[in-house]
This record gives sequence, C-alpha cells and structure tokens, in this order.
Amino acid sequence: MKQAPVSDALFQRAQNSIPGGVNSPVRAFRSVGGHPRFMVSAKGPFLYDEDGNQYLDLINSWGPMILGHAAEVVNEAVQKAIPNSLSFGAPTRKEVEMAELIVHMVPSIEKVRMVNSGTEATMSAIRVARGYTGRDKIIKFEGCYHGHGDSFLIAAGSGAITLGVPDSPGVTKGTANDTLTAPYNNLEAVKTLAEANKGQVAAIILEPVAGNMGLVIPQPGFLQGLRDLCDKEGIVLIFDEVMTGFRLAPGGAQELYGVTPDMCTLGKIIGGGMPVGAYGGKRELMDYVSPAGPVYQAGTLSGNPIAMSAGMAMLNFLNEHPETYDKLENTSASMVAGMQRNMQQLGLAYTINRVGSMFSIFFTPEPVTDFDSAKTSDTALFGRYFNGMLDRGIYLAPSQYEALFVSTAVTDQLVEKYVQANLEALQEAHQA
Ligand SMILES: *Cc1c(COP(=O)(O)O)cnc(C)c1O
Repeated sequence: MKQAPVSDALFQRAQNSIPGGVNSPVRAFRSVGGHPRFMVSAKGPFLYDEDGNQYLDLINSWGPMILGHAAEVVNEAVQKAIPNSLSFGAPTRKEVEMAELIVHMVPSIEKVRMVNSGTEATMSAIRVARGYTGRDKIIKFEGCYHGHGDSFLIAAGSGAITLGVPDSPGVTKGTANDTLTAPYNNLEAVKTLAEANKGQVAAIILEPVAGNMGLVIPQPGFLQGLRDLCDKEGIVLIFDEVMTGFRLAPGGAQELYGVTPDMCTLGKIIGGGMPVGAYGGKRELMDYVSPAGPVYQAGTLSGNPIAMSAGMAMLNFLNEHPETYDKLENTSASMVAGMQRNMQQLGLAYTINRVGSMFSIFFTPEPVTDFDSAKTSDTALFGRYFNGMLDRGIYLAPSQYEALFVSTAVTDQLVEKYVQANLEALQEAHQA
C-alpha cells in the first residue's frame, strides 16, 4: 500500500485556499475515495509524487504527453525559445509555421486560429458557426464534454458526470434553451431534432470518438450520417478533436474515419504540455473571424511563443514519425489483450472500448455505446479497482467516465507490469 502523508497534508492545506483543493475538478478523487497525489516531477512513463512514490502514468496530463513526460524534442524547443522573451503580444514567424503545419496535418482545416485552451476553442467555434449561419441553436450529445463554456454544460461528460451535476448553476435558461441534446450514436434522434428545429440549428458539435464518458466508439455510419444531415440542412458540423486530434492519427479522428467536418477544435497534444487550443476549418467560415470578418474573438497570450515552440516541436515530431501511431496501437492493443486474458481467468466479462491509444474498461457486461449504457457501470467497483491500481503504482484517471491515454514511453516490460497489476486489482476489487 502506497502511503502519501505529504500529499495528504498538502491537500488539507489546499482546501483552505483553492476551491475543493484542486484547480480542475477531475483531479480530485471524490468519486474513487482517497486524496489526490501531488506531483513533483515526471520523466518518460513515470510520475513522482511529493512522497517519492513512482507511478506508471496512464493519464499523461489528460492526453498531451503522447511522447511521455519531459520529451527531449519538446523541452529543447522550449529552452531555446525562453531567452527571447516569454511573450510579445505581436505576431511571430512561429505562429505562421504552426498554422501551416496544422493546415497540412488536419484534413478539415484550411485556416486556423490559436487560443489558450480547448474550452476557448469550442466556445469560439460555435460563435463562428452562429455568426456564419445566422442561427442560434446547437446540437450536442449526452456525455460529450466540450470544455466549460455555458452552452456546453448541458449533459456534459467527464467531471460533470463524476460529480453528478449534469447542468451547472450559473448557466442561464436562455443559454440552456439554445443547446439541444441527443444520445450519442443515435442518428435518428439527431434527424428528429433537426427537423423539429428546421432552419434554427447553427452547428452540430461532437467528439468524433467520445472520451469524456469513458471511451465510446462512433458506430459505423454515424459520423457520415451527421455529415450528410449537415450538408442537407446547412448546419456547420464541428468535430471537437481536443482529445483525439494528433492522437488517433496525425490528422485525428477525421483522418481515421475519413469524414471531414466543416470546423474542428484542437487542444491537449497541440500544446505539447503548454496551455494551447485552436479552432479551424473551411476558409469561408474562418474568414468570418475578426479581423478578417465580423465574429469577434481575441486573446492576449494567444500564439504565445513558448507555447508555440512546445506545440510545434510536438506536432513536427508526430508529422515526421507516423510510425509513432503503429507503436501506440501495438502497446495499447497488448494492454487490452492482457486485461481480456485476466478477465477470462477470473470469470469476469466487463466491456473494454478502445480506439488506438485511448481505452476504457467499463464495469458493466453491457456494450457501451452512449451515455445511458456507460451509466450502467458499477462505479463503486471502479473506485476499488482504481485504488488497487494506485497501490500498485499505476496512475489511472480517477473516474469511471474517463479514457486512458497511452504514451510511446510505455515499454513491453511496463505492459507486463500493468497487466499483472490489473489482474491483482481486479481480484482485490471483487473480494471487498
Ligand atoms: C479537454 C477537452 C476540452 C476542454 O479543453 P480545456 O483545455 O480543458 O479547456 C474540450 N473538449 C474535449 C473533447 C476535451 O477532451
């Protein structure tokens, strides 16, 4: 059993000066029991906490650290940029190169605007869609998370589900009324909504592979069906690829599934660990953005030179090393195959969903295809499993409703360690 007295003391202290002791709710261990671990450093596949415990990291900063922690290509680029000042508030060559690289890598993007987070990216994308179409409503999917913008805190996944507050106080009724929701993978429900709100829907936004209700895979035809519906109704199709962008393929889920949205939003990996987001899409849509067009959107630190250096080093590496994705696929497939063997040995039959280097185990025997089926999971069992893994030095996301992210730093030996820990933690969780 790993003890963490220093983390526990810091968490006590933190609660006096930070709401709930954390700067983002998903970091709290509320749904799994226990206290969060306070981290000091990380290298490659490992995290080190204040108590000197080592963990194999399967969150990787919720996605960005796809090459493992403190990757040299990224760190070197940052170190090189620092002496030239941390910020100018004026344009730089790096921003041009970064934009060109993103346009090259992501199929739907002809022009792109940099922002500082995924939240900013999605908020801005729907503003552009509304400005362009002259319509007010958006359609989102139950269990999909698009950051904490008011319009999206309706049936939002991730932290919101975990804490059991699907709709946040502070979001006005007016805003909520403009957000329509449908079950994920249910094309008929979307068609019905679009029909009932004909000529009023500006955008359909979704995670093309959902990662914020645990990992949920788009069923064959779902993404293409949305594409066709949007074409027919003049609706802007937005893929929120903040998680999946540069992770499932160099061009994200849109490349993997061969469906091109009108706009897409990016975050996480795009900053290589720095706070960066972006939104982009068709030229005619993006030319609506200020100062080219009338839709206002701005940012004092947007395109920050240090953040651009980190992000560009990361994207350049991924662009030049497509074999990275084969390695991630193989590592992740072995991890899941090991978990399947363990379950067989123990006579268990839970659902594991995986796409590339993202996966989730749901503690339910039912197939998980949407938010309702995800909620059939035994979350108390997940909590015991999570703590069993933590005790064995494996750091999972502290919620049933999250995906895990594998990095290239996970070796075959670590896969074995993970699979063994999984066997023991599953056993232990069922004994309790
Ligand atoms: C993480 C995430 C966001 C929000 O990004 P932040 O940088 O946390 O604001 C938006 N959409 C998706 C799909 C995400 O996974």
